Amino acid sequence: MEEIKIGEFTLTTLLDGVFPCGPDLIPAAKSKDGEKLFVDAGLPQIGPSPEPINAFALRRGDRLWLIDAGCGHQLGPDFGKVPAALKSLGYEPEQVEAVILTHLHEDHIGGLVTEDGAAAFPKARLFVPTEELDFWLDPTSPAKNPGEAQQKFDLAKAVLAPYEGAIEAVPADSEIEEGVRLVGLFGHSPGHCGVSIEQDGKKLLMWTDIAHSTLLQLAYPHWSIGFDFDQPQAVATREALLAELAGTDVLVAGSHVRGMGTISRSGDGYRLEPSEEVSSATVKATKAA
Ligand SMILES: [Zn+2]
Repeated sequence: MEEIKIGEFTLTTLLDGVFPCGPDLIPAAKSKDGEKLFVDAGLPQIGPSPEPINAFALRRGDRLWLIDAGCGHQLGPDFGKVPAALKSLGYEPEQVEAVILTHLHEDHIGGLVTEDGAAAFPKARLFVPTEELDFWLDPTSPAKNPGEAQQKFDLAKAVLAPYEGAIEAVPADSEIEEGVRLVGLFGHSPGHCGVSIEQDGKKLLMWTDIAHSTLLQLAYPHWSIGFDFDQPQAVATREALLAELAGTDVLVAGSHVRGMGTISRSGDGYRLEPSEEVSSATVKATKAA
């Protein structure tokens, strides 16, 4: 587990699982350019590249928050490892004070509930982008958006239900508390947000699903993934954000990014320069089962 300090905050990656990201998900990677990227990375010519699904622990003093909750039981036994990762940091689910949700896709919200549908983090409040809540909970949305499976609307409702009364809608580009803001990065989903953490002149942006494969989509930011709600908007958001971040000292982490670092230009695209400030999280001794 990697972690980094931003002022009084400590952000730690909680790896939920790893998924294969190839041309079936990013069709433009089925090309000479794609083959070169895969081969140069030591992968088969047609990929896939193994990519993480991350949630994050955000700690300040003795307070513990999560950013997203992982897949839970949605994607099978290879996923849903956030509770174990949290435990290895020395925490029980009851100690989670709040969960910031970046958007309401299964790999970010499935872990909010246990297998029997109860709250996995029983004492937590949820902070959810207003734009995202409005989209998924509006009863007229499924009919207006036939491209989105009914199952996705049902899941959003089901995982939020046990938190009723503890859900706070937060508009994009507003502060959740001092130093922690939602950043509107719409396109991948209607209210898709990143989370910025800023203190003492230091800033990190957890950009959520701006890239599902840094290998493919930093080299070619116009390459889309099939999961995008609005592909042109998702591409425009990714291109604008990468251009804005390039050459700055803003640190970046992502739901599907290995490591943390800064963004620099590389040819016509970009690359992530790993930060030397990232360290390994202290894992509390746990007895092997
Ligand atoms: Zn995702």
